[in-house]
Amino acid sequence: MHNVKFPLGKILSLLAILSMLFGSCQQDNDVQPTGSQTSANDIAVLKSFLSETTGTPLNDITFADDTFLIDGDMVMPLQNARDHYVKSQTEKSAAGRTEQRQYMYLLTPAVAANITVYINTDVPAVWVTAINQAISNWNTGADSKIHASVTTTAAGASITVSMNAAIEPGVIARALLPDAAGNAGSTVQINPAYTSSLPASQKQFAMTHEFGHNFGFRHTDQTNGTLITDTPVTDANSVMNSVVLNWNGFTFYDFIAFGVVYPHQPGTRRLLRYYSSANTDHFYTIHTNEIGPTGNGWAFEGGSGYVYATPTPGTVPLYRYYDAVTMDHFYTMNFGEVSWTYEGVACYVSATQVAGTRPLYRYFNTVTKDHFYTLHLGEVSGPSWTYEGIACYVWQP
Ligand SMILES: [Zn+2]
Repeated sequence: MHNVKFPLGKILSLLAILSMLFGSCQQDNDVQPTGSQTSANDIAVLKSFLSETTGTPLNDITFADDTFLIDGDMVMPLQNARDHYVKSQTEKSAAGRTEQRQYMYLLTPAVAANITVYINTDVPAVWVTAINQAISNWNTGADSKIHASVTTTAAGASITVSMNAAIEPGVIARALLPDAAGNAGSTVQINPAYTSSLPASQKQFAMTHEFGHNFGFRHTDQTNGTLITDTPVTDANSVMNSVVLNWNGFTFYDFIAFGVVYPHQPGTRRLLRYYSSANTDHFYTIHTNEIGPTGNGWAFEGGSGYVYATPTPGTVPLYRYYDAVTMDHFYTMNFGEVSWTYEGVACYVSATQVAGTRPLYRYFNTVTKDHFYTLHLGEVSGPSWTYEGIACYVWQP
């Protein structure tokens, strides 16, 4: 949708396969607020407010049908804009400017942990499949505070997914952004024109994307706003780009972004796990730029729980060592456990099992000389692996 906003050559240079642009964010039942007339001046004030708070140039915000269109893609009903404006006036600290891909209002942790999705009866089975896949992607692939489930009760659902034949041609679906109270954007609307034409894999991508808007993520490939910490300005396969691709999982930086915005434990960051098959060495770091998505033969293997980057009450240092002879990284709470090269404090962890934590198990491969740490007891087995006990506790449900 809104092809005019995106020079075709630019899109093609970014993406091997250009499919469809998404739309997002429309509320189906927004009405004129009771007892209040909307003057042109009110609209101008709200446009200016939305421009400032979303980092969107003023002329990229339009208003029609009681709805603001932001960035040509994200839509905010008039009432929502009013609510946000009123809230910002009452919050002295409302600096407003959001990070790239992150909307000004996010879900509260309690909301994020219990999102219910109602699928309206007009949604065809092929889209229901995509919705369920998208929910699974967010629940398992994102490894964040966000947890969603389908509800068969319309009343009280966090998000209602329905069809809307009035969506303009070229727009696959639209989703509402979070409200000022920290609730998920309450609707996703699907254009029925894409029910038969869009491949199933792209439907899955589209639904995963739209829920991302409901959770407060903006478009990776749009430049308004500032960056989410630890994420780059472009990410060709990000699920939050405005172009639909085949579903191929979240990118490294999608994964990073979700963990930064919705960590399992406030104030923590992910311990990232890598493996070098050349060195038969498992490596763990909280620094997303130490290796990045990949590099020097390192394969990214996902998260190993959430930990603190700085000393925090109730935590102890996890020390990092390296042995150049066996090419083995080693992590321990016991300073001096080995007399290898000391590489500093990897992160801060819990020495005991407290609420919200689980053990990080330590194994050693006596053949390849590799220390391995995992959340899953029994992830490795066989005669070469020795279980060495619990290394520490990390924040992970
Ligand atoms: Zn979108």
